[in-house]
Amino acid sequence: MRREIAMTLATVPEYGSAQTTRKAGHAVVAGAGMAGLLAARVLADHFEQVMIVEKDSLPDAPVTRKGVPQANHIHNLHEAGRRTLEDLFPGFSEDLIAAGGNRIEINSDSRVFIEGDVLAHGPGRLPMYCASRPLFELVTRRRVDDVDNISLREHCQFIDYIVGETAPNVEGISIRQDGRTEEIPANLVVDATGRTSRTPDWLAEHDYPTPTVDEVHIDVVYSTALVNRPVDAQQTRVVLPNPPRKRGGGMFPVENGRWMMTLFGVHGEHAPPDPEGFADFAASLPIPDFKRVIDEYGLASEMIEQYPFPSNKRVRYEEIDRFPDGLVVVGDGIASFNPIYGQGMSVAALEALQLHHVLAADGTDDLAHRFFQRAETVVDDAWMLAVGSDFQFPQTTGPKPTGTDLINKYLSRLLRKARTDGKVADAFNRVIIMEERPTSLFRPRILWRVLTPSI
Ligand SMILES: Cc1cc2nc3c(=O)[nH]c(=O)nc-3n(C[C@H](O)[C@H](O)[C@H](O)COP(=O)(O)OP(=O)(O)OC[C@H]3O[C@@H](n4cnc5c(N)ncnc54)[C@H](O)[C@@H]3O)c2cc1C
Repeated sequence: MRREIAMTLATVPEYGSAQTTRKAGHAVVAGAGMAGLLAARVLADHFEQVMIVEKDSLPDAPVTRKGVPQANHIHNLHEAGRRTLEDLFPGFSEDLIAAGGNRIEINSDSRVFIEGDVLAHGPGRLPMYCASRPLFELVTRRRVDDVDNISLREHCQFIDYIVGETAPNVEGISIRQDGRTEEIPANLVVDATGRTSRTPDWLAEHDYPTPTVDEVHIDVVYSTALVNRPVDAQQTRVVLPNPPRKRGGGMFPVENGRWMMTLFGVHGEHAPPDPEGFADFAASLPIPDFKRVIDEYGLASEMIEQYPFPSNKRVRYEEIDRFPDGLVVVGDGIASFNPIYGQGMSVAALEALQLHHVLAADGTDDLAHRFFQRAETVVDDAWMLAVGSDFQFPQTTGPKPTGTDLINKYLSRLLRKARTDGKVADAFNRVIIMEERPTSLFRPRILWRVLTPSI
């Protein structure tokens, strides 16, 4: 069957349910964020029982919970992530729309301001599904709940790994629930506890090599409000920061007749958390649309949420030569990126797909090593995009990937071309939505368009 668009990130093969025949053993996932839910879904093909433990309560409603404070802010689900979710949970996109989400067309509903102007619209169709992060998570969790061999325990705090007598390998986890401690044996444990994962400390405490942690400091602060939206208004706006302009924003149509509007600044800039200051910051952006919708439709509440995000962070598990059997880490626990590029959930989805492929190929033998190698291919591209852009600012600190300045120079030229050339804009958009790799922007047909002077 021909697909609507090419599959996901060009490096990750599609999900294949036919590859999954064996079902034995128990797996435990710590953390029921997007990465944990997606990992559990693929583990359910390979293990007899999968248990997810989550410290928060998980109500059947799209609400922000304590363990995922970033959920108050814009969450774009890129097409690579959406399509992976659709493959793992057929009908996911329809479920999302039925629950209040929106489907927009990037090539008609959106305006993206970058490098001093708005990008041209590309040819063809480029869909995007918009919703709040709590709604994305709720729709995913409901589908996970429907999987027979997955159980979900809320109010259940993961406290430590159970250590086997040999090696020491991981043979399960201990948890605390209602004041009681309990041990849950497992053949595989997945750490999906997010950016604050304690696995690196645990490795150090158990005489394993500790992974290098790369941090690239961008000091981005998000300020987010809900703005009233006429039900049929689908306008989507993005302003990306470029030196010397440290300010930017995003505005996406979410459920309940609202736009979610996030204004952000890097390296010391941020929108104030009061309605007046927020509106003034919106007025300072290079396109008038943010301020115009605030004036025309009004903020839905006085509440402006803030979230400081200091650095891109990457734990280099793929580089260490000894790692305990019975354990893998996924999602933000491996890498978390400057959120303005909206990559985290899609990276988590593609990592789940990689987990599926390594389990299908060779079961749990040498699983962590094989998984981290494959996860690296996903993380590399997202990292190159986020960190590369952040290094446009001279204030950005941290390990700079080789070739960054040269790539930035080329991208800057490409984006200037993309103001008038829809095909170049389309090539760029397909990298942003993670359907194509960043290297696709150097293909001869794009290179030629970028380097040919405009008439
Ligand atoms: C401000 C901001 C905006 C973002 N915007 C986007 C975006 O536009 N698009 C996008 O794709 N991504 C975005 N992201 C990233 C995205 O939120 C994550 O990358 C993605 O959700 C995957 O996260 P995760 O599941 O690995 O971790 P988390 O979402 O952090 O989930 C971890 C889970 O583990 C639970 N947990 C933690 N410790 C324990 C414990 N000891 N016991 C039991 N449970 C535990 C937590 O309660 C939580 O449920 C954004 C991030 C931030 C900070």
